[in-house]
Amino acid sequence: MSKIAVIGGGIIGVATAYELAKLGEDVILFEKNYFGSGSTFRCASGIRAQFTDEANVRLMKYAVERWERLEDELGFDINFRQTGYLFLATSEEEIEAFKANIRLQNRFGVPTRLIDMDEAKEIVPILNPEPFLAGTWNPRDGKANPFKTLFAYLFRAREMGVDAREHTEVIGFEREGDEITAVRYRSRGKAESVKVDAVLNATNAWAPTINEMAGLKRGIVPIKVYKHQLVKTELLEKGQAEPLVCPPSWNDAYIIQDGEDGGIICGAGIEHEARGLNDVEPTYDFLRGVLRYAVMMAPPLKYAHVIRQWAGFYAKTPDRNPAIGKLLEDFYISAGFSGHGFMMAPAVAQAMAELIARGRSKVPIDWEWYDPYRFERGELHTSAFQIG
Ligand SMILES: Cc1cc2nc3c(=O)[nH]c(=O)nc-3n(C[C@H](O)[C@H](O)[C@H](O)COP(=O)(O)OP(=O)(O)OC[C@H]3O[C@@H](n4cnc5c(N)ncnc54)[C@H](O)[C@@H]3O)c2cc1C
Repeated sequence: MSKIAVIGGGIIGVATAYELAKLGEDVILFEKNYFGSGSTFRCASGIRAQFTDEANVRLMKYAVERWERLEDELGFDINFRQTGYLFLATSEEEIEAFKANIRLQNRFGVPTRLIDMDEAKEIVPILNPEPFLAGTWNPRDGKANPFKTLFAYLFRAREMGVDAREHTEVIGFEREGDEITAVRYRSRGKAESVKVDAVLNATNAWAPTINEMAGLKRGIVPIKVYKHQLVKTELLEKGQAEPLVCPPSWNDAYIIQDGEDGGIICGAGIEHEARGLNDVEPTYDFLRGVLRYAVMMAPPLKYAHVIRQWAGFYAKTPDRNPAIGKLLEDFYISAGFSGHGFMMAPAVAQAMAELIARGRSKVPIDWEWYDPYRFERGELHTSAFQIG
């Protein structure tokens, strides 16, 4: 049994700690704030296999299969529901691109199909079909509750012996030669250290700082942090906009009905590079911009009150695909998830845990695609479509 330190108590760190414990490893999990306080508790809850490249389609097909069984496996209600994703086209060229995406997704067993606007309106009763020509629809995509999911993983991880510590910040490493031998951390003002055999950097937006602590160049995984916001309306009758609905050509604007209370969550690609890692102040330009798109998409929203607005981080690599893999002997990274970290977590956590504990994984993950050293080599991939 090895002693493995997981740094970062978001969905990626917590789920990976759980998977490592399942494999019999001795895990210590560090979160500097409270669990979920990074991007995870701010996310829009969406889960989809409708990606536009083979690596992400295959990974997310597997992830959705894990999501389908997760509630049984963890033994908690996580409110995973397959309410679908509906992407909407506004031009003939976009329909052709959608058809190519559907062919790719179907090739790997994802049952996406092209639908007309009559069917789209049946699926989303408050939709205004006028501006759109057709949609791509995958009924197996869906959503889950980020709070319940993280706590379900955390509860089971602790039950299996994971030493999960919040308000405990990693501040450095001890090394012998090139090898990391211990993690230094601070809790309640006191600095201590613990001997470890391997370390996973799962700090997403904060990952470059942890890489630097490990003696790597800060820019080896060049993550830029963007403020991404959401607005939520008062509660509406359920069934009005259950899928995530998105016309990509409208600045990636989207709406999705909250799976718990029926409020409509509205997002868009109106974002700014964050001014720092405390910059989570919501902005008025986002509120105005996102509501314009939301009302054009679903006119009844004109009459719905906004009850909440919040901001979090999209931690983006230059090709918007995460960095997942080994950076040094016994130092691993799983970070830079843009708008996909929540949905990918069950698959990525399993893959990373198996890589650390066994040196290989059963998950259909294309390690080269997500290789953390690809930026240094200048081998960027086609940009993963970034929204949730
Ligand atoms: C508004 C919004 C909407 C989104 N919608 C979706 C969606 O619909 N679907 C989807 O899949 N994704 C979505 N995302 C993206 C998703 O939230 C993230 O990709 C995911 O939560 C990343 O999880 P993580 O565990 O990697 O990072 P985080 O949740 O950010 O966790 C990293 C943790 O590391 C901790 N940390 C940092 N430094 C240290 C240190 N030195 N010591 C100890 N701990 C440290 C931080 O405190 C933080 O809690 C959305 C994001 C936002 C902001």
